[in-house]
Amino acid sequence: MSVSGLDVAVLGAGIGGLAAATALARRGASVRVYEQAPELAEVGAGIQISANGLTVLRGLGIPVEGSSVEGQGTELQDFRAGRTVLRVPPPAEGKTRFFHRADLLDLLASAAREAGVRIHLGQRAVSATASGTVRFDDDADVSAHLIVGADGVRGVTRKVLSGSDAPRFTGQVAWRAVVPWDGQADARAFVQMGPGRHVVTYPLRGGLAMNVAAFEDRRGWTEESWRREGDIDAFRTCFGQFGGRAGDAIGTAGLVHTWALHLHPVARVWAGERLALLGDAAHPTLPYLAQGACLALEDAWVLAASLDRHDDLSRGLAAYEALRLTRARRVVQAASGNAWRFHLRAPFRQIGQAMLRAAGPGAAPDFGWIYALDVTAD
Ligand code: FAD
Repeated sequence: MSVSGLDVAVLGAGIGGLAAATALARRGASVRVYEQAPELAEVGAGIQISANGLTVLRGLGIPVEGSSVEGQGTELQDFRAGRTVLRVPPPAEGKTRFFHRADLLDLLASAAREAGVRIHLGQRAVSATASGTVRFDDDADVSAHLIVGADGVRGVTRKVLSGSDAPRFTGQVAWRAVVPWDGQADARAFVQMGPGRHVVTYPLRGGLAMNVAAFEDRRGWTEESWRREGDIDAFRTCFGQFGGRAGDAIGTAGLVHTWALHLHPVARVWAGERLALLGDAAHPTLPYLAQGACLALEDAWVLAASLDRHDDLSRGLAAYEALRLTRARRVVQAASGNAWRFHLRAPFRQIGQAMLRAAGPGAAPDFGWIYALDVTAD
């Protein structure tokens, strides 16, 4: 059985689920998406999509240019005044784009619907099986030739194939906010590094908004859900010593969300008889390289292409897992290893920054191997 004529149920209408639904429908599958949320509304936050993810969006016919800001590289700065430590030009493999998550989700949902995908909202799955069935909280059962588990790290499909895992708290807590801006923002991502904390800012929506993602070392609080509203006063206090763009943005933030960052293992098994995992359900990724959604987009394309290449579903699923597992493990590991770089304390911070200034752009770790992959190329 190739993709044409395949009956697919996708669990989860996040970036990965909608991209997979579109990729499969474009190749002739009949696709339904089931999402627990009553509406398709993303949290107020930005997301960076690098060249490896953009090729997939373009391959799906999604117009990325109008709705995102073209990133002009990254600048590492000290936390107090935003003094330049290192300017890193855009990757040679292609520029990253900065989206508001809600805009990216809208684009993906429109593309899915245009491809004929039916999206069912308010449908929370309570269990799934590797043989292609899902049960919802209203006791309704759905079966399909293939279930795509795109239901994120706390969904129901991950444990069907890989069992339960014990996530490890990283000792780091993240905060996020989007604030109004003046339309004049420098189109680079600024990473301001302080003792035990750092703040990333980049412009959204033509520079009329600024995304703030802030990270602190903290013990003792480990709630993982990133939809939890944070205490704005605690946020301002925690990052009160930050100046430059981070300081301006934090000073105007009204609504902030916060959550604890956890390390989860990459799923050992991604494909069962009639079930495939994708995106965060397969490989939850720390945000330090901005790759979780990019990997989910790559998964979506490769899943559809692998199924299309094989008449037999199990061979297509095995090819998908084989093509994705090593790549995902490598990127997840690189992201986990990137965290400590930004949180050095005195005197190591000053020494590290002096070394970076002296060494210039060549001192930045080379992640070109991540951005260079174009899964749509063959
Ligand atoms: P999710 O986005 O988690 O979507 C899962 C969907 O499934 C949700 O809509 C959920 O409601 C639904 N669902 C869950 N359970 C059920 C159920 N039982 N029944 C029905 N539906 C269900 N990645 C990047 O590439 N670039 C970045 O710049 C970047 N920045 C990040 C910043 C932060 C602070 C964080 C935390 C992550 C960041 N990421 C980034 C990672 C990225 O957000 C995720 O990897 C990506 O959103 C995963 O997409 P997904 O579709 O796999 O899962």
